[in-house]
Amino acid sequence: MADYIYVPQANLRNIAIFDEEPGAALLQEIRQHIKQTHCPHTWRGHSHTKPPAGAFPVYCDEFDVPAPDTVPRVAPCPCCNPNYPQYKNKGKVAWFPDERVIRLIGPQCFAAINEGAHQTALIDLRKKQKARSELAVIRLHSPRIEGLVAIIDEVVPIASALDTFMQELNGAFDNELAIPLWRIAKGGTLTINETREVPYRKPDGSVGTKRQIFAVHFADIIGQTMIDRSGLIAAEKKLKPLRSGLIAINDRLIEVGNPEQLDETERKDFSEKMPRAQAQVREVLDDARSRQQFLTSGAIDTLARWGQHPNAPYRFAIKRKGSGIALTSANQRSSSPVNIDIASHATKKLPDLPVIGEG
Ligand SMILES: [Zn+2]
Repeated sequence: MADYIYVPQANLRNIAIFDEEPGAALLQEIRQHIKQTHCPHTWRGHSHTKPPAGAFPVYCDEFDVPAPDTVPRVAPCPCCNPNYPQYKNKGKVAWFPDERVIRLIGPQCFAAINEGAHQTALIDLRKKQKARSELAVIRLHSPRIEGLVAIIDEVVPIASALDTFMQELNGAFDNELAIPLWRIAKGGTLTINETREVPYRKPDGSVGTKRQIFAVHFADIIGQTMIDRSGLIAAEKKLKPLRSGLIAINDRLIEVGNPEQLDETERKDFSEKMPRAQAQVREVLDDARSRQQFLTSGAIDTLARWGQHPNAPYRFAIKRKGSGIALTSANQRSSSPVNIDIASHATKKLPDLPVIGEG
């Protein structure tokens, strides 16, 4: 049998001081009190009195009372069980406008008193919770919109130069050189063919040897997204609409002043678009960074050594020439080398994207 719970004298009468629905500060005070004391029934504003049958509560918030997992119920409820543990999780902060009181009650308790009023209040609470979490996302992201737009402006020329180089490089291998590079260099792994004598059992039972070709590891390409097509392309196509979307959101937020003034549709829309924009910019940046490594890591020299190796699957030459590269192969379609330019900003330093939600 659980122990009798003493409720402070001050809480045993109606504390009728709440003319308005509790705001964020008061809800925070209640949460803090429950977190620190584990006793909703001792909060200074809690009325530990049974609500009248005709009451209409407004549910303002939900709370869990801290308790070990093995304890199923911990707090007393003024609706139904005023001096013994009745509930633990999803307790309700219930404001009763007619009486001007707040009661901290069990999750479903008021349903036994007035089912209809409980359901109405619950639907309303879910809407409020949704609005609150959407607003929290908007408030987190809105101070960073301008910074994100500036990053997009910095990234677009770099990523576009990388896109162009990638398309031309892959086009040259596919078309002029007729080498299926993306297929034979998947994941950036380059192999050469090695012939080995392997034993096998002949039909008469004796053991002979035969020649077999093995693919042996030669080198790994850093920044392989440039050649194996696992990366994204069209940074500009992707980032331009994102940029204008962010600017539209920013303008609207400035216009309304307070994001609480947004209507329901806008609020939901912004709260989804802002984190998504952040993630998409990160994706383009990561991708561009990986492809930049192809130009800065010595990958071109590695490809050159591979293309000249007598046991490489295809023979070709690749070398830096001027600001770009030149490619040739024995079976290429035209006699002159294929020249591909590397735009100067292709290797410009990419900006860092601040992590949101820290600090
Ligand atoms: Zn109850």
